[in-house]
Amino acid sequence: MNQLPECIFCQIAAGTIPATVVADDGELMAFPDIRPKAPIHLLIIPKEHVLRSIADMTDGQEALLGRMMAMAKRLAEENGIAADGYRLVFNVRQHGGQEVDHIHLHLLGGQSLGPLG
Ligand code: AMP
Ligand code: ZN
Repeated sequence: MNQLPECIFCQIAAGTIPATVVADDGELMAFPDIRPKAPIHLLIIPKEHVLRSIADMTDGQEALLGRMMAMAKRLAEENGIAADGYRLVFNVRQHGGQEVDHIHLHLLGGQSLGPLG
């Protein structure tokens, strides 16, 4: 496993930091955000530390992002928020508000989220 011992999300993937795993397909996993910004706020991550952010993406990693979005779509359906809609967010680096440098996709929904900002 390509994991960084000091990375929070690697530790969640390894099970050393507890999280309620709501999806795990071997490559990707999802769990609730510890500080939810909406009634449903899940984080989708690759279990390995393969990419820090969209800004660090290299050729060949596009499909990984597609699979992350596909897992978000499935989780939105499972959580009953697909019909009303939801928001998917990748925060990128400092100005994007990225706190954890292990790529993750936020799935937010369960209420009207209004405009960005
Ligand atoms: P970002 O700001 O895009 O890097 O998002 C990182 C997210 O990880 C934040 O929304 C945090 O609330 C969330 N977070 C940090 N630590 C944990 C944890 N141990 N379990 C679940 N979510 C976490
Ligand atoms: Zn990591």
